[in-house]
Amino acid sequence: MDLNTNLALLEKIYKIYDDFAVKLNVACKRYCSECCTRNVTLTTLEAYKIVNYMRAKDQTVLFRKLEVESYKKRFQPKTTTNGLANLCIQGEEIPDEENNYIWGKCPLLHNDECPLYPPRPFMCRCFLSKQNCREQGHASIDPFVLTVNNVFLQYIEHIDAHGFTGNLTEILLFLESEDNRQAYENKAVRPDTRGLIPNQPIKALFIPPEHRDKIKPILQSIQAIKLS
Ligand code: SF4
Ligand code: SF4
Repeated sequence: MDLNTNLALLEKIYKIYDDFAVKLNVACKRYCSECCTRNVTLTTLEAYKIVNYMRAKDQTVLFRKLEVESYKKRFQPKTTTNGLANLCIQGEEIPDEENNYIWGKCPLLHNDECPLYPPRPFMCRCFLSKQNCREQGHASIDPFVLTVNNVFLQYIEHIDAHGFTGNLTEILLFLESEDNRQAYENKAVRPDTRGLIPNQPIKALFIPPEHRDKIKPILQSIQAIKLS
């Protein structure tokens, strides 16, 4: 599929998720930003959409905010969601991943608001807590929501199977470059690009037996949009 088709698919996937999320009873509200850490990861397709928004809205100064904090520790994944699922299927060892919210706030956060809220990546859409994280000291996420989130992460990676996953800082700074954007458009990004890990198509979905019936309508909605 071409890039514009994939961007349209991504938009539809976000819409299905947002329609699901709006019905949940969660504590999340405007200016609540404890979950906005520097550990957010996303795919190149999501980042491409964000970079288009930054350029259209004259927000490219945000690249410099990412750059000045790029020396700071952050979550840099070794495996993608579909990569993890595939390792599980094969009975292979799952690599240890170091991730800690104390590494600090998202470099983009400004006055407790996201300057990229409309095109924010899926990871920022799906962190939905039943209790206020600041008051309680931690999030409380419904197990079914976690299952739904994993499935959406898998489909979002699947439609960008020729692309990459990485930390928000790495991927946005990578796609700031016109040459890199063109390489991505032409499916010609080098697989050994620092900080980026290649995406994989879905081989199996992460759905525990107790959620298989409940998630069926959501799966049908996703499959109805005709993914490759
Ligand atoms: S996940 Fe926690 S910190 Fe983030 S918006 Fe929801 S309640 Fe607030
Ligand atoms: S991109 Fe926006 S929503 Fe996501 S962590 Fe950063 S400030 Fe928060």
